[in-house]
Amino acid sequence: MGKVVLVTGGAGYIGSHTCKRLSLAGYLPVVYDDLRRGHADFVKWGPLVRGDILDTESLMFALKRYSPDAVIHFAAYAYVGESFHDPLSYYRNNVAGTLSLLQAMKSSAVQNIVFSSSCAVYGLASTDNIKEEHPHSPISLYGRTKSLAESMLQDFNYAYGLRSVSLRYFNAAGADPEGEIGEHHDPETHLIPLLLDVAAGRRSHIDIYGNDYPSEDGTCIRDYVHVADLADAHVRAMEKLLRGNSAASYNLGSGHGHSVMQLVRAVERVTRVKITVRITPRRPGDSHRLVCDPSRARAELQWRPEFSSLEDMLDHAWHWHRKRFNVLR
Ligand code: UDP
Repeated sequence: MGKVVLVTGGAGYIGSHTCKRLSLAGYLPVVYDDLRRGHADFVKWGPLVRGDILDTESLMFALKRYSPDAVIHFAAYAYVGESFHDPLSYYRNNVAGTLSLLQAMKSSAVQNIVFSSSCAVYGLASTDNIKEEHPHSPISLYGRTKSLAESMLQDFNYAYGLRSVSLRYFNAAGADPEGEIGEHHDPETHLIPLLLDVAAGRRSHIDIYGNDYPSEDGTCIRDYVHVADLADAHVRAMEKLLRGNSAASYNLGSGHGHSVMQLVRAVERVTRVKITVRITPRRPGDSHRLVCDPSRARAELQWRPEFSSLEDMLDHAWHWHRKRFNVLR
């Protein structure tokens, strides 16, 4: 058997794509997921251990049973809007959950962890293209939980020699190019699947959260990056850790910004369906622009996104969405 990787939250969107990529690279991904937000049918490339991230005993049992060389930690709640209304769950799952995992890793002498962080740690960025050195100033509770977890990793590195990489994703988009897995949240709050729901006739319209931001069309700018390219970056980051490097962080994005309205138009082009939009007030916690400078990941991980066009991302997402929800269009 090749090397084993424990993937917490491996039944979720980015986690499952990473499991597929790990498997293609010769690793056995062992998924640790409680399936509250993950999908059992996304676990296809290795065993599933069903457990809560807060259950340190159960994590220790999984680490003992499978002796992984590394952990990739996705298990978390990830809705910006919800985070404000449910701080208890966000601090529990994202902060206490990470601590529970680190405790289990320390007791089991597992030394390498790749952490699923977010551009939300930056908050209101002062530059157009954000570099990793940009200070953390999250404006959402979700972003705060990710920033706190990153601090924990640094402290564990200093005190116990734990090796870690934090990957700060910008906006994950698309689906597996072979159509095996894709994006499916319940409830759905993310822009692209909601737009595809409108195209599929599963929703009547999309609410656009504010058109009075300082951008050309007044809507928020985000940096969309294909989920298969994110998965590839995880494998690269983990291999760097296994070679003995420690404590780094990388921005993962395309380096290009698209507004919400540009997304609406692109979805119309790909699906050939007119999208009905409704302008609503701004959503708390939204930064007006989050676009990355991906040069560190390019230089140090040799990461080169394969699918850089928005059309490719939407095309893969649309293909999967129709299959998942039995859309006849
Ligand atoms: N957005 C929107 N309407 C929606 C969902 C999202 O206008 O129903 C906007 C949101 O304000 C943000 C962008 O789309 O500017 C991407 O939001 P999403 O929730 O997909 O990802 P986030 O940037 O919060 O991680």
